Amino acid sequence: MSNRYGYNNVLGLLAAFPDEAACAEHLAALRWPDGITCPLCASTRHFTHMNRPGKYVCGDCRKQFSVRKGTVYEESRLPLRKWFLAAFLMTTSRKGISSLQLAREIGVTQKTAWFVLGRLRKAAEQASSRAGTLPGPVEADESYFGGRNKNRHTRDRLPGRGTANKMAVAGVVSRTSGQAVARQIEQPDRATLIPFVEGVTAPGSTIYTDTHSGYDGLSSLFNRLTHETVNHSAGEYVRGKVHTNGVESFWALLKRGYHGVFHDFSQKHLPRYLAEFSHRWNMLPLSSAQRVDALLKAGIGERLTYEELISEPERGYSRV
Ligand SMILES: [Zn+2]
Repeated sequence: MSNRYGYNNVLGLLAAFPDEAACAEHLAALRWPDGITCPLCASTRHFTHMNRPGKYVCGDCRKQFSVRKGTVYEESRLPLRKWFLAAFLMTTSRKGISSLQLAREIGVTQKTAWFVLGRLRKAAEQASSRAGTLPGPVEADESYFGGRNKNRHTRDRLPGRGTANKMAVAGVVSRTSGQAVARQIEQPDRATLIPFVEGVTAPGSTIYTDTHSGYDGLSSLFNRLTHETVNHSAGEYVRGKVHTNGVESFWALLKRGYHGVFHDFSQKHLPRYLAEFSHRWNMLPLSSAQRVDALLKAGIGERLTYEELISEPERGYSRV
């Protein structure tokens, strides 16, 4: 039998999961590592496996349920194999995958592909919100997306190359674990950056930033952070261990995805793209099989309907 936990390419994935039954079994194993629990009455006693993959009858409440019940895979007739393949492509493509390309790869409409990606991004968002603080030393930095003048009508162009109308994003990358956390922010000011950086960084860590005033005072606050800066505006980028090259690599990857794959992140969806990119970045040390499992597992217990995805109001900025 092919190894469901050890494949490293798309052929391995397809061999390990030849049909819906194999996928349903695997999703059940990820969902209930200690044995099936009824999502309706929480019974852990006895279940009858119905003839359809992933469908059970609870011996206590007598109701039927699916392994997809209460997950992002619910209310979707899409075969689990396509979900697995989508999770594989999303977590192993360095810059992510567009809905147009995913539609071609898994043989669905672009609308369906867009929905699948939206749900998997939601799963990634859940995974990052459950992650703990980053072990130090860490690097923090901010960046900007969107609002590029060359994409605007001439009458709407802004003077200069400032950051007006751009979306601001703050990020922290751990030098120890390599993990990244990124969040959309309203203003790159102290009131926003300091609580964000402190909130995601383990107490007592050393933190490296540039000399942007938004980080002033990091070291004097309760988190016992040691703060060291490089002066980018004076042409200083590296002073021994003091630099922000790690977090800048993360921004560079995000920008390559922004320009090369997605062309635009809307303000509404930016938090989910950030979650997708940081999740993928954080999964880099894992094998393909582990990445797929991590994403599939993050989608269990989190449900998002198509209606919610399209009707969701513009999100407010993260105030942290
Ligand atoms: Zn039950």
